[in-house]
Amino acid sequence: MSFASLGLSDDIVRAVTEHGYTVPTPIQVQAIPAVLSGGDLLAGAQTGTGKTAGFTLPILQRLSTHRPTHPGAKAPIRALVLTPTRELAAQVEESVRTYGKHVKLSSMVMFGGVGMNPQLERLKRRVDILVATPGRLLDHAQQGSVDLGHVEILVLDEADRMLDMGFIHDIKKVLALLPKQRQNLLFSATFSDEIKALADRLLNAPALIEV
Ligand code: AMP
Repeated sequence: MSFASLGLSDDIVRAVTEHGYTVPTPIQVQAIPAVLSGGDLLAGAQTGTGKTAGFTLPILQRLSTHRPTHPGAKAPIRALVLTPTRELAAQVEESVRTYGKHVKLSSMVMFGGVGMNPQLERLKRRVDILVATPGRLLDHAQQGSVDLGHVEILVLDEADRMLDMGFIHDIKKVLALLPKQRQNLLFSATFSDEIKALADRLLNAPALIEV
């Protein structure tokens, strides 16, 4: 199995190869075609399985091959990744940069516990892919500094940890700001009743993956 055979384009495969990956992991084998198809996804995956590349690679491909509905400097955010912690947010955004080095998409990481001003400055420039923790994202959304009205793809990464950390209310508020028509990906290591309820509410006929 190769990355190219999963349907990834040359620009993406080249970045992955340059990063030193030769063989996709089991979750990547399943998730990449599912995300490329444009459908929703419910994935049971622990960290260490390669789940980050499993969603960032096909997202980069979809965004780089489908033209934005709002081109231009003030173009809106097209993909939103929510993570439970700043460390994970930083790590995911680093992956987006690494795998996206040969495509023209820009990314931003946003989390709490640091000043708002650098984030406000960064938001003046184009952000195609935003990786954020829920609380700080909601702060920005509520003060009007971030527009979530054109998000095409939503990822909830480590959804179980986000619920454990009490982010469900913030997540629900963020969901209310997103367009109804979008692709949703939910990654979780465990499946409590609360996660199942969130998945039911969020996902439309999702592909199911467990590794
Ligand atoms: P993750 O589960 O996304 O946190 O990834 C776990 C680790 O596996 C990270 O250090 C990745 O860089 C690495 N990794 C992800 N995909 C591959 C792959 N296809 N081949 C080798 N290493 C990988």
